[in-house]
Amino acid sequence: MASYINLRYEVAYFLSGSLLAAIGINLFVLKTENHKIAAWLYSTVMLVQVVYLIISGGVEATGPLWTYPIVVIIISLLGHLHGYFLSLFVIALLSVLLGFGDDYGLTPQYSETFKIRFIATLFALSWLVWSLEYSRAKAAALLNGLNQQILDISRRDQLTGLLNRRGLEENFNSEVNRSLRVNQSFSLALVDIDDFKAMNDRYGHLLGDEILKQIANLVQSQIRNIDTLARWGGEEFAILLDKSSLADAVYIADKIRKAIQDLDREQSLISERITISIGVAEYQPGQSMLELFDAADNALYLAKRCGKNCVRTTEDVARENGRPDLSLV
Ligand code: GH3
Ligand code: MG
Ligand code: MG
Repeated sequence: MASYINLRYEVAYFLSGSLLAAIGINLFVLKTENHKIAAWLYSTVMLVQVVYLIISGGVEATGPLWTYPIVVIIISLLGHLHGYFLSLFVIALLSVLLGFGDDYGLTPQYSETFKIRFIATLFALSWLVWSLEYSRAKAAALLNGLNQQILDISRRDQLTGLLNRRGLEENFNSEVNRSLRVNQSFSLALVDIDDFKAMNDRYGHLLGDEILKQIANLVQSQIRNIDTLARWGGEEFAILLDKSSLADAVYIADKIRKAIQDLDREQSLISERITISIGVAEYQPGQSMLELFDAADNALYLAKRCGKNCVRTTEDVARENGRPDLSLV
């Protein structure tokens, strides 16, 4: 604006051109969301602007003053590492320009004192902004790390290290989305240790905890990488069985059940046999997490009623109730 008012049209046109370039970069960001390239493009436009303003002198030889905010913007945009190196490059470039510019008639409008002080203050400012940006980036990284840790703790069960209910809920949502996207079902197996209360009473709570950890590890070793194991409650575990129909899930569940039942005497923490019961349900599109868990819980309840140490499904529950399983229609 000032350039237009002061009739410095070539400066005004140049700055208007830069403004148009900035608008173009904004549109580029909106379209591609590539902020990194945009930051470099912005910085390049500003770098060209600085060189032009110094050579042209801007209005009444005040052009170099714009270098200060531009250095701040470049370091903020590119971060403490790239931004600082680019600002050092700018300072080196301007030093050469101001040092040798007079020989080519480029910078005669500035006194020697101005040039030296301009470069010195530019250097001081870029160092100050760099140190602020460095501290900010360090604090942000620290905070980010702590946030991740807190998030991880809030998703995990302290005793077994498995996902807890909250962690599983998050996985459940992405599992539902994946299942709908690829049109492939998944199933849920609810595992409950048989007569665990009696075990606790007999061997104590501490050994009970160790048994829980051992069972968790054993179950984990029996499932695939794509499956998700979580501690659902006290001595209950939930397994999201990826890409598994009800029949596939029953196969895996029974494999887990057998692995626990056949736990080596030497490996087992107690002399008596530990067994588990499992209820299995296949996810039905539109079902909520609670509905799926309810269905698996009914199957688990049936497994307990059938004498424990066995696997039962929603189909078994429907059969037991003497009517077809409506959820599977
Ligand atoms: P069922 O075969 O019907 O499942 O009988 P159960 O005794 O296993 O079932 P119930 O739900 O009645 O008891 C679960 C017990 O699990 C109660 C509690 O003592 C124990 N328990 C729950 N959480 C923990 C835990 O974190 N550590 C220990 N050691 N025991 C736990
Ligand atoms: Mg229980
Ligand atoms: Mg139990």
